[in-house]
Amino acid sequence: MPEKACRECRLLSTGSVCPRCKSASLSDDFSGLVIIFDPETSAIAKAMKVKEKGRYALRVR
Ligand SMILES: [Zn+2]
Repeated sequence: MPEKACRECRLLSTGSVCPRCKSASLSDDFSGLVIIFDPETSAIAKAMKVKEKGRYALRVR
């Protein structure tokens, strides 16, 4: 099953709902991939308002 990006939190997952925010608003039209290992110290995580580690889409349409 192809990965989809959550439109709410941009987390990538393969299910039909986002495992993090439970949103069913998922898109397969996304670009970029950001892997956050340490949201505490990551400037990217801060810019994306990500508080948990994981794989995120940079842009979701
Ligand atoms: Zn989400």
